[in-house]
Amino acid sequence: MALFINVEVDAAVARDGELVKKLIEVCPVNIFATGSGGALQIVEPNLDECTLCELCLNAAPPGTVRVVKLYGDKEVLTRKA
Ligand code: SF4
Repeated sequence: MALFINVEVDAAVARDGELVKKLIEVCPVNIFATGSGGALQIVEPNLDECTLCELCLNAAPPGTVRVVKLYGDKEVLTRKA
């Protein structure tokens, strides 16, 4: 179970084949995968490997992918418009 990081992806992005492919490509620690029917799946055991590189934020439209720190100030990283 993830203890420190959560990654949230809007449903529209999670169903968009091209964006799913991009997210899988950019994440260096394999937090994204393809689930049933080609929809995006978050690989929960990998969440805490997140390097906060923000590549996923830039791979999708602004605000649709959010990296949430579950510690400290609970900062939410999201792509600015
Ligand atoms: S911030 Fe980087 S390491 Fe974390 S989920 Fe996004 S692409 Fe993966």
